[in-house]
Amino acid sequence: MSGTFRAIVAEKTDGGQTVELREVDESILMEGDVDVDISHSTVNYKDGLAVTGKAPIARISPLIPGIDFAGTVTASRNGAFKPGDAVVLTGWGVGEAHHGGFAQKARVKADWLAPLPEGMAPDQAMAIGTAGFTAMLCVMALAEQGVAPGDGEVLVTGASGGVGSVALALLAGRGYAVTAATGKTGETDYLKSLGAAEVIGRAELSARPRPLGKARWAGAVDVAGSVTLANVISQLKPGAAVAACGLAQGMDLPSSVAPFILRGVKLIGVESVYCPRARRMKAWQTLAKELDMTKLAAMTRHIRLEDVFGAAEDITRGKIRGRLVVDIA
Ligand code: NDP
Repeated sequence: MSGTFRAIVAEKTDGGQTVELREVDESILMEGDVDVDISHSTVNYKDGLAVTGKAPIARISPLIPGIDFAGTVTASRNGAFKPGDAVVLTGWGVGEAHHGGFAQKARVKADWLAPLPEGMAPDQAMAIGTAGFTAMLCVMALAEQGVAPGDGEVLVTGASGGVGSVALALLAGRGYAVTAATGKTGETDYLKSLGAAEVIGRAELSARPRPLGKARWAGAVDVAGSVTLANVISQLKPGAAVAACGLAQGMDLPSSVAPFILRGVKLIGVESVYCPRARRMKAWQTLAKELDMTKLAAMTRHIRLEDVFGAAEDITRGKIRGRLVVDIA
């Protein structure tokens, strides 16, 4: 017998989309070999775009948005998981082409799930969420490029946002001297509490990029793209690297080859959705080991499913500080 559960559902219409919180029948669940009772989800930038309809994130209609969730397995037709297992999911097109985390239940492929890391609570996993997971991938990428604590200033753009806040806390935890760039200068104390050695205004990275700027950064994590990323590239020290993961400012990149051919700088793309399993596990284990959970709590606000609509609007306007956890259970 099929039951019902609460979910946010987005449906395409002739003029755009409708999106509402409603009771849905379990028959809405899509193909998958593991059933999960969701306890927590989060609102990421991409979720904001999906729920507001500001960008075509939804690739099916109807769609339950929410690109990540944590919860407990209730049924499994795959040997990798059994009922009672605590799991976390980010990416794999969930919340885009497959029903996602803004719901009490999900049915997904076992390959998409990761066991909840030892010692991490499900709400902490979602305080990290796709944004924090991506921040970890960025920090790993910089370390792999040889950017080491002690090399000099490392920059984080969009520092008060989700990726930025976690990247800042992780880098400071490793002993890097982190400069936080933000449009919210009122958040200076918050950014220093996460470990920023210095806070600069976003405007400093918004001028028309020169082919080569003053070489300042030993490394950088960029969530903005566009003019900001172009300025970061032109200000990298010789041999330095920037991990680029976002487009909060824009998709374009008005840069030149000068920093690449004259300073040997490196532009490293970071992609979280289809991150291979071994790297995914490494990122979650490193987050469990390195991320200061007191700082994580300080950057996190809890909301309910009904609050997702307002939060989605706010995140697309760059108004959210840190991370939002959606309490579902
Ligand atoms: P948030 O909205 O939480 O943070 C983005 C931050 O960027 C804002 O808080 C703001 O920080 C800054 N910002 C906003 N607008 C602008 C602008 N016009 N110019 C410069 N900075 C701006 O989003 P997330 O941290 O969750 O995501 C950040 C980006 O990373 C998004 O573009 C998202 O799509 C991308 N992303 C990519 C992933 C991947 O797999 N590659 C995975 C996850 C996220 P402040 O006010 O402090 O400047």
